[in-house]
Amino acid sequence: MAKAKKLTKGQARRIRANQAKKLRQKSDAVEWQDNELGAPQEGTVISRFGQHADIENGQGDTFRCNLRRGVASLVCGDKVLFREGKSNEHSISGVVEAVHDRSSELSRPDVYDGLKPIAANISQIIIVTTVLPAFNPDIIDRYIVACVQTGIKPVILLNKVDLMDEELAEIVEQQLDIYRDIGYQVLYASSASGDGIDELKTQLNNETSIFVGQSGVGKSTLVNSLMPELSLDTQEVSENSGLGQHTTTVARLYHFADGGDLIDSPGIREFGLWHLTAEQVADGFIEFDDYLGTCKFRDCKHKDDPGCALVAAVEAGEIYPERLESYQRIVDSLDTNNLTSRFKH
Ligand code: GDP
Ligand code: ZN
Repeated sequence: MAKAKKLTKGQARRIRANQAKKLRQKSDAVEWQDNELGAPQEGTVISRFGQHADIENGQGDTFRCNLRRGVASLVCGDKVLFREGKSNEHSISGVVEAVHDRSSELSRPDVYDGLKPIAANISQIIIVTTVLPAFNPDIIDRYIVACVQTGIKPVILLNKVDLMDEELAEIVEQQLDIYRDIGYQVLYASSASGDGIDELKTQLNNETSIFVGQSGVGKSTLVNSLMPELSLDTQEVSENSGLGQHTTTVARLYHFADGGDLIDSPGIREFGLWHLTAEQVADGFIEFDDYLGTCKFRDCKHKDDPGCALVAAVEAGEIYPERLESYQRIVDSLDTNNLTSRFKH
């Protein structure tokens, strides 16, 4: 075998410089000149992957875009200003110039970056729950706390109502009344019988929604029936190697057939309580607001502490005992959770 020739310093330097240049060319494969771009237009991020994003304009056309250097953070649902390229190079057909302020932001913990945004401009969170194996108000409360943290409106959806007999309905109604009483909207649905589907469609119209809830409550079935294109899309994506593989795990925006948008991904469905303090959990129980800060002790745990205003409010019939108990269970679970904890399914 020929002995590898030692490079001179000059050769080594030239090779390094060449590689650096190639890397630069690769990451900025398309450098648009101003005259190669159309006029700025408004768009929505359908999905973001690596250094690219798929942007949809007002006419429903999608453009795979590069991002200008100044565009620091860009996620699914972002509203942007972008310019279409006059030619299409390496399947890149535009550039994102700027991102509008977000009306809301969903984040998840990231090992490297702390909290990392995963989706933007969501206007409502549909908390999907069902009757069997059991109606679970604790999970609803956890999601409501997360909604309050993000400032996004929650809607409670009782799914698979076809499985409910009269006896079960009575028990569940009692619990749902608590939420109605506090001021939350409650919907019913069944993909099996079609009950409530029209009301759900109305609720989704003109909104950007996400569906959350434990696995098995019927989210996929519901979403697939509201959006025939979704199952198609997933198929196309997995057939397309490379990029496709990745896009299945990142958040993506879809349009409902009868109006309204959905942002979805496995991560979005698991969205939950990250990094919360007991105070933040209390903020998520909005009917506690009037009493918080009026307990005898400033560090009151609202459990068996003397002079607790919340316990007194429960005794006076002003706060539902179920809600204070649920609050206590969530706070207890925070102690055992770590940074990457999420809902147990
Ligand atoms: P996900 O994990 O929340 O996405 O739940 P899936 O959509 O996968 O549904 C879980 C199971 O519930 C599946 O076996 C579905 O067939 C069933 N299911 C979904 N919707 C309904 C419904 O409206 N009624 C009944 N009886 N079963 C349903
Ligand atoms: Zn207290």
